[in-house]
Amino acid sequence: MRIVIVGAGPVGCFTARLLEQAGFHPILLEEHNEVGKPVQCAGIVSTDIIALMRPFISDGAIINTINNFSINTPWQESFSINKDGVAAILNREKFDTCLGEGLEIHLGETVTSIEQNTKGYLLRTAQGKEYETDILIGADGVDSIVREYFLKRNNHKRESRNFELAYYYGLQYQIRLKDSKQQLSPDTVQVFFDDTIPFFIWIVPENEYLLRLGVVADHGKKVLDEFIKEKGIEGKIEEVITGKIPIGFISTSADGIALVGDAACQMKPLTGGGLSFGLRSAQILADCINEGNLDRYDGRWKKQFGPEIRFGIRARKIYENLEEYQRAELFQIFKKNAPFIEQIVDFDTHSGLFREAFQKPSILLDAGKLLRPYLTDLAKEFFK
Ligand SMILES: Cc1cc2nc3c(=O)[nH]c(=O)nc-3n(C[C@H](O)[C@H](O)[C@H](O)COP(=O)(O)OP(=O)(O)OC[C@H]3O[C@@H](n4cnc5c(N)ncnc54)[C@H](O)[C@@H]3O)c2cc1C
Repeated sequence: MRIVIVGAGPVGCFTARLLEQAGFHPILLEEHNEVGKPVQCAGIVSTDIIALMRPFISDGAIINTINNFSINTPWQESFSINKDGVAAILNREKFDTCLGEGLEIHLGETVTSIEQNTKGYLLRTAQGKEYETDILIGADGVDSIVREYFLKRNNHKRESRNFELAYYYGLQYQIRLKDSKQQLSPDTVQVFFDDTIPFFIWIVPENEYLLRLGVVADHGKKVLDEFIKEKGIEGKIEEVITGKIPIGFISTSADGIALVGDAACQMKPLTGGGLSFGLRSAQILADCINEGNLDRYDGRWKKQFGPEIRFGIRARKIYENLEEYQRAELFQIFKKNAPFIEQIVDFDTHSGLFREAFQKPSILLDAGKLLRPYLTDLAKEFFK
């Protein structure tokens, strides 16, 4: 059976690796001339994902381990969530290249058109090549051409206005600190919330002197430049990366086509992390193909991650609409309950924490007043 995967990012490569293991020989088409570049990622993943990917990556792909998250807001003293080994920091370029090793990747091939013919799907590239395939996998990221074709072809009806596809814009600087006085705590990720940005500013340490400072916001450069000034960060910006984050809930398989990773919006809506659900969905996709049951892929991955994504989308909308004083109250509740959060929190799934929290009378009392208008909405995902 012919399988073409558009996109040799981590999710496309991982899907291909699993298919190779199952005896298939997929071909990957990648528009860039090398795998792993450009990097568009802060590189933070759960240690569960590291465990899953261990057999496929070398030590150099993991550059740091995180034990603490420091939560900062303008409304209160910062507080920490401590959990040993909760996350790891990746060298994304190495991570992606490890996953791509040994695969048939046609580099420098940009897919520009897709059509169905009697033999399957015909793909044409900007470089003048044609590829035919029985199964077409779109692992081509946030601006997926396969998704565009697939959704148009299937006359995609959005599942509901609540889950409409939205894009957020990320910007990140890699900064080498100037002197040792500014030394970072290398096992702590710092996040900074305020009332003007939909996500948060992050400081992800690569080591004591090298950090990734990023934000997801429309006016990211202004936010980061002001942040650097305000915090007195002195250092050299060694790299600037930009990227888009797709948040939505869409159809992802039918008629020999499947979408996976960012192309399928397999994203944590509250944090913008895409590797966890994308890589795990790649496993589900490879299993479905191996079982000769591609059409079941959409239902299967959604059974596992759908409630989490839908919850995250609803929670994100609520958060974005809170007034400043409400955000301040919310973080007050988080701070007061930091020890409880430490016990329950899971890096990849957030709905469990809220579900548990709402069963604690003291938290319900504090949060109830603030979140009462939204409780019915959130409960729809909790109790599905
Ligand atoms: C600023 C920022 C920070 C982030 N930080 C994190 C983080 O800390 N942790 C986390 O889990 N996630 C993070 N993410 C998200 C994460 O980077 C993505 O979820 C992840 O890269 C998705 O992998 P993918 O393989 O699905 O897509 P991609 O990595 O986007 O790979 C898609 C590939 O398809 C290729 N392609 C696209 N179109 C075509 C075409 N027409 N023809 C041929 N090839 C094509 C592209 O060149 C690319 O190589 C971040 C995103 C941004 C923007």
